[in-house]
Amino acid sequence: MTRIVIVEDEIDIASVVQDYLRHAGYETEHFADGRSALDSIVASPPDLTLLDIMLPRLDGIEVLRRAREHTAHPIIMLTARIEEVDRLLGLELGADDYVCKPFSPRELVARVRAVLRRTAPGPAAGASGDAPGLVLDDVHWRASLEGTPLNLTRREFGLLQVLSRHPGRIFSRARLLELAYDDTVDVTERAIDSHVKNLRRKLGAVTPEHDWIRSVYGVGFAWEAPA
Ligand code: CA
Repeated sequence: MTRIVIVEDEIDIASVVQDYLRHAGYETEHFADGRSALDSIVASPPDLTLLDIMLPRLDGIEVLRRAREHTAHPIIMLTARIEEVDRLLGLELGADDYVCKPFSPRELVARVRAVLRRTAPGPAAGASGDAPGLVLDDVHWRASLEGTPLNLTRREFGLLQVLSRHPGRIFSRARLLELAYDDTVDVTERAIDSHVKNLRRKLGAVTPEHDWIRSVYGVGFAWEAPA
């Protein structure tokens, strides 16, 4: 059975989340402080952890940081403010997703499912190469999808490189600017949106059945490999 650890000091939230996850067929375990959660996660990593940030004894960021020295299992952060997510993304702590409070338990279960699916061991998941069907030529900034050349601008190619090589990871606009472009003189964070839009359109022209780039509201973008 898939075991999910919930680390949340607000007992009402924890118990609702637990009910929904159990109902969805998951086994759950709850911790109300960071220290005991970390001990358990390190001793016996679950299939997934839901980790609140504001916690007694050891905050969620510290729990995540220390947990990552021992385990790569998927961790979804629960945060009170959307602005906080941008800062967290910049810290590159290795969370797999972020959910902002207040959230609907139903939405949370859907995110849990998506993260578990994405991180499930298999030939495609976690592979460091290019996404299936996608070929990148880093020297000439050329890309093709399922044999069809994509005809990308250099900016679009840079975004594709960063996003597609880290499937599932959420990148803020600021982080994309930093990673995808070697010169950022004439590029604003807003421009990223239009580059992403164009890239999405070009990918969508080849595979209309799949949307490769997920917009994370108020945060940024993530590459979504087909299920
Ligand atoms: Ca809390």
